[in-house]
Amino acid sequence: MPAGSPLQKRLSEALAQIRAADLYRLRRVIDGGHGVQLRVNGRDCLNFCSNDYLGLASDPRVAEAARAALAQGTGSGASALVCGYNREHQRLEEELADFLGAPRVLLFSSGWAANLGVLRGLLGRDDHLLADELNHASLIDGGRLSAAQYMRVAHADAAAFEAELSRLGAQATGLKLLVSDSVFSMDGDLAPLAALQRLAQRHGAALMVDDAHGFGVLGEQGRGSFEALGLPLPDIYVATAGKALGSSGAFVAGSQDLIEYLVQRARSWVFSTAPPPAIAAATRCALGIIRSEPERRAQLGANIRRLREGAQQLGIVLGDSQTAIQPLILGEAARTLAVSAALFERGYWVAGIRPPTVPKNSSRLRITLSATHTAAQIDGLLEALAAALKSG
Ligand SMILES: *Cc1c(COP(=O)(O)O)cnc(C)c1O
Repeated sequence: MPAGSPLQKRLSEALAQIRAADLYRLRRVIDGGHGVQLRVNGRDCLNFCSNDYLGLASDPRVAEAARAALAQGTGSGASALVCGYNREHQRLEEELADFLGAPRVLLFSSGWAANLGVLRGLLGRDDHLLADELNHASLIDGGRLSAAQYMRVAHADAAAFEAELSRLGAQATGLKLLVSDSVFSMDGDLAPLAALQRLAQRHGAALMVDDAHGFGVLGEQGRGSFEALGLPLPDIYVATAGKALGSSGAFVAGSQDLIEYLVQRARSWVFSTAPPPAIAAATRCALGIIRSEPERRAQLGANIRRLREGAQQLGIVLGDSQTAIQPLILGEAARTLAVSAALFERGYWVAGIRPPTVPKNSSRLRITLSATHTAAQIDGLLEALAAALKSG
């Protein structure tokens, strides 16, 4: 690329701007496994920022299931409709459907692909999408990529959804789809799912919920947010395998017709290579552990309480969350980076989260807990946090 070319100019200006705003992002290299003990940029530390809520990403049984399936090879070779749909994929879909009590499940290669595929595939010009303003970026992009009219609704505010539905009234001809995260990924708070379900019913709308941070973790059996609230599944239920399942990929659960429709029309599924069968084998093993070891969820609950009570004693104000996602909002990006760096010096890895991932002036440490953290590790984090906040 010649110096001074339009592209070069565009890139260097944009990068300089990002740097000046303290929003420049860097990758850190992890050596070895992605458990609580983490080797970051060559240094051993304790991991308090992953979404591996149950510790399954480094569970030897899950790894062994993948290894056994790898004896058959690595890649699936093609998209599912051509010749990439393996028996492992089919079994995982059936086991997930059985676990959730859903008619059918369709596997996607990622949560990003699932949300894009559903929204783009389902919604057309006459349709209206009513979306919580703090929804995950993949739901936002999926909605924007669809031809539907995108209506951004105030966060976790059922009355705001109702106002928009009333405003649309009977004059809206197409489909009305409400879409929300269940557990919001950067705040850990919950969407008003019961109210959204009632609203959808009353206004003849459909409901789509992304339960990426609820599946496996919430509910007595780990079936997610809807089990926890005692509600039936929404019309379109999405969850990912990269979080509590400790694997990779995602799935959509819903009616026979929904899944058949997605097989015809979800472009991110139709035109994408099916995930490696060994990943499906790993996810199946992780699902078995989620079903058979409820003590992991109990331990996670105890760890959440320990962190929150300890923080309160130290005068550290965490966000209003009862889930494994415990944000400590610091405001400025520079301060967030400084506190994160001070924690790393003390052996704790909590990545700073800055705009555009979160709104301006709400940069934060997104502390996350796993069932595999020990009480001593949580106490150590709290102590280090108190010290870092004083010095940072
Ligand atoms: C992580 C996440 C996704 C994306 O899933 P990937 O499998 O990582 O692409 C989608 N929605 C929510 C709410 C998420 O937290």
